Amino acid sequence: MRFEEFSTQFVQQVGKKEGAISPVLVNSASFGYGDSETGEGIFDGSVKKPLYSRMGNPTSGQLESILAAMDGGIGAIATSSGMGATAMATLSLLKAGDEIISIGGLFGGTYSYFSETLTRFGITTRFFDVDEVGAIEEAITDKTKLLFLESVGNPNMHLPDIKRIADMAVAHGVVLMVDNTITPLSIKPLELGADIVVYSTTKIITGNASALGGAVVFRPIKEGEDKFKTQRYSELHPFIKKMGAMALIGNAKKRALRDFGMSANGFGSYLTMLGLETLPLRMDRIVSSVEKIVLALDAAGFCINHPSLVEHPHHERYKEQFSQGCGTLFTIDMGSKEAAFAFLNCSKLITITANIGDSRTLGLHMGSTIYRDFDAPTREFLGITEGLVRISVGLENPEDIISDFMRARS
Ligand SMILES: *Cc1c(COP(=O)(O)O)cnc(C)c1O
Repeated sequence: MRFEEFSTQFVQQVGKKEGAISPVLVNSASFGYGDSETGEGIFDGSVKKPLYSRMGNPTSGQLESILAAMDGGIGAIATSSGMGATAMATLSLLKAGDEIISIGGLFGGTYSYFSETLTRFGITTRFFDVDEVGAIEEAITDKTKLLFLESVGNPNMHLPDIKRIADMAVAHGVVLMVDNTITPLSIKPLELGADIVVYSTTKIITGNASALGGAVVFRPIKEGEDKFKTQRYSELHPFIKKMGAMALIGNAKKRALRDFGMSANGFGSYLTMLGLETLPLRMDRIVSSVEKIVLALDAAGFCINHPSLVEHPHHERYKEQFSQGCGTLFTIDMGSKEAAFAFLNCSKLITITANIGDSRTLGLHMGSTIYRDFDAPTREFLGITEGLVRISVGLENPEDIISDFMRARS
């Protein structure tokens, strides 16, 4: 079975051997310090006790340790949503005048955050497709603070050569941030050379639409040479001086979490941990279902976009770098908006919604929903055609999904 190494780890880390087995849910917004000396210690960091839930919550803290271990990071910070995670990770490092290079994807919310919101604050983003490696390298300037990469293009299903892009980031001393929402467990960005990983835990990690959430996982600052110690990241230097290996956590907490408040809540983190326990099982099941379903639908004449199919431009990369699958998604081009609507309305299994990574199979017509506000060139760049339907495969029997889709088309 895939993801075996995580199944023991997660259930053991979520449950306790003594007392309450289910994670202890701390819902308090604030915490008493007992005496003033302890209060002072909490604020200067010498006493490790909760300060105030905007700065960290004990239940979220348990989730953070598990996610940090999952990706081999030194720490993680849970956030109120996936967009909260991206906002925290980027805003803690960027200032007016800085540049982002965005590669592949891109999730609609992230695209508008980069192209419409950050530009208002003087931060510019250039967008590239995954295979424009030469142009990406040429676009890196002294002002480039961040290469941002989505592990799987949603919904264009392009797969990046993560290793090659990570090597480029190392060569130029620029931070690589990976949105690994679609491929937790299957892709380990920090091992491949990324510096920061962001997640929407709302999706496959929680897996049942019970909690909105996100997380950012950070690598340690290395002893000796480290790209964060160069002039490009001078704003981080006081944190490196004070906190050493943990500097990215301290920086993100003070420069983003404290001041913008995209903090996770305890109940959301509790539900997320319950989901996380079964993530390895669900991922394994869904990845093999996706391969079966796309093969059968492709053979039946559906216009399918998924890299497990030999005709997909990134099929070789799928086999090499994505041998554990590329998550729950594939797309179908139904040819027209009318055909797409008819298919979705006729299916008995599909839940029509903007979410992905759920226990249930979900579907959505892209052009009339998430991408409705985008102009034609942007839609083309993002691979949004008139009849495009995105499917997120769930835990149902794959044979049931195949026969439901065949019936819904006719
Ligand atoms: C859903 C999603 C996000 C945003 O997450 P929310 O929890 O909805 O804020 C970011 N990136 C990707 C790839 C996503 O699928």
